[in-house]
Amino acid sequence: MSQKTQDIIAETEKLLISTYTSQPVVLSHGEGVYAYDTDGKKYLDFAAGIAVASLGHAPKAVLKTLNEQAAKMMTCQASYATLPKLEASKLLVENGCFDEIFWCNSGTEAVEAALKLARKWAYDTKSKECNEIISFRKSFHGRTYGSASVMEKRHSQPYFAPYLPGIHFAEFNNLESVKALISDKVCAIIVEPVQGEGGIKVAEKAFMQGLRELCDKNNIALIFDEVQAGMGRIGHLFAYEYFGVEPDVGTYAKGIGSGFPVGCMMAKKPYCEAFVVGTHGTTYGGNPLATAVAATVVKEMLKPGFFENVRKTGQHFIEGLKKLQRDSNKISDIRGAGLLVGIDTTIDIKKMIRGVQDNGLMTTQAGDATLRMTPPLIATTAHMDECIAILAKTLKDLD
Ligand code: PLP
Repeated sequence: MSQKTQDIIAETEKLLISTYTSQPVVLSHGEGVYAYDTDGKKYLDFAAGIAVASLGHAPKAVLKTLNEQAAKMMTCQASYATLPKLEASKLLVENGCFDEIFWCNSGTEAVEAALKLARKWAYDTKSKECNEIISFRKSFHGRTYGSASVMEKRHSQPYFAPYLPGIHFAEFNNLESVKALISDKVCAIIVEPVQGEGGIKVAEKAFMQGLRELCDKNNIALIFDEVQAGMGRIGHLFAYEYFGVEPDVGTYAKGIGSGFPVGCMMAKKPYCEAFVVGTHGTTYGGNPLATAVAATVVKEMLKPGFFENVRKTGQHFIEGLKKLQRDSNKISDIRGAGLLVGIDTTIDIKKMIRGVQDNGLMTTQAGDATLRMTPPLIATTAHMDECIAILAKTLKDLD
């Protein structure tokens, strides 16, 4: 690490409240699937801002939209219709199972909107006491109070209490554990189709189908938190398509802006009716710049072959990783769907992340000890092979 890099990191650490472990790298810029640091080192970026840079770094289409829309209008009061908002909303509604959309700026805001919508829907149509929510162990939904309340992590962060009451935790992929928690008081079930932060755990199709049937039978809102798995990440625009199960409400962020902060909550008509003028809102949500970017990103993804390519590249990646697993005795598990992949190794996870970074590959940690791969969705099979070569070298070097 150069002296300049050390100085920048030290100065930054002094100024920032320490909510993250700082990295030994200062990033400068990115292009496509690669990122570069201020010392000129090149990295294959399989972190992509944690599943954010869906079209890679500096995608031409997004840059063009950003420049043109910023020059026209970046912001206006959320109550105004604009052409970008109309276009982005239309694209998402016409290509999915939802009827209406609420725009916001991040994943946690989309989750907050979904939780509030479900409670208001139950208050209006079921009973005032119907406000409890079932979530899952090891799930991740964000860091604002509603999201934090539907995460088991609340138990290890007692200093933030009191959290929302009436939240129950079931076992992921265990329908019986959900059934045991059903009562007249439950208004919603919130589930990640692929638990991302929890360690890349893909829901079983039968489990998702079972949740749908349980919600239909008991008139409970089924919320899919697709913030990490949605928007092309697992080979479909919406993650629910992978499972063949439609939710009532869905939450989206990360990949929808390919790096520009934008999120949304979408729902089917009967649920949308719960929100009326004054029940919910946001200053920035649905602004012309963010929705212009979202429209561009979704249009790029809807081009012929895009999702097929994600599925094909993901399959190639898994096959390559399995071969590596056979050749090396240091990989204990490989899990994933599309380009959301987790690898467990026998090497300490911090050492592994640092090791691949030294060898020119950026990744992130998921769960207690999983190496998470969330490359840009435009990555090719050649990029997957490049990643596997770096993994092989690193596994060989480390014990
Ligand atoms: N939901 C899921 C499934 C996520 O993975 C995340 C972030 O990792 C969030 C919600 C929160 O999103 P944000 O960090 O944009 O608030």
